[in-house]
Amino acid sequence: MSEAWAAILPRLVACPECHGEGTIEEGYAYPHNAGRDIGEIIMETVSCPECGGMGEIPPPDEEEEEEEEEEEEDE
Ligand SMILES: [Zn+2]
Repeated sequence: MSEAWAAILPRLVACPECHGEGTIEEGYAYPHNAGRDIGEIIMETVSCPECGGMGEIPPPDEEEEEEEEEEEEDE
């Protein structure tokens, strides 16, 4: 296993969507028969669409300006 390829890749960060799990639980509304208005939510574990199941994603634009809290300074 060569680690050379890893060195050129941007540093990955844990996916905020699945918290590095690679999968998320998704709830599906599963309607019951007509006449019964109470549906059922089926929780299903699916691959995280955010990271494609990798659990890690490239960090957001590094050049992105950090949001600075506006602090009113007395002058
Ligand atoms: Zn993810």
